[in-house]
Amino acid sequence: MQRKLCSCGFWQKSGVPCPHACKCILQKAENIDDFVHKMQTISQYRDTYGLGMNALPKEFTWMSHVSVVLLLPPRANATIVEDTPYRIPHTK
Ligand SMILES: [Zn+2]
Repeated sequence: MQRKLCSCGFWQKSGVPCPHACKCILQKAENIDDFVHKMQTISQYRDTYGLGMNALPKEFTWMSHVSVVLLLPPRANATIVEDTPYRIPHTK
């Protein structure tokens, strides 16, 4: 319980005790809030979003700053060589 682990994996992934862990914490008469990861607390949320969030620029302004490179998937008839650490160039 002190390692903040449960075999279901929810606690490790979310930082919030799962129902299994909550049951154990309550049986030991401890406070569940003490077992929540710091990043999941209200004070951390307020620190993060306390100043508000700026709106994204309008969509028509996006393309003037970004160049788009279209990366196509490899062709279906490309030759595959075993143990090659790089992509095989297309051949016609
Ligand atoms: Zn669990």
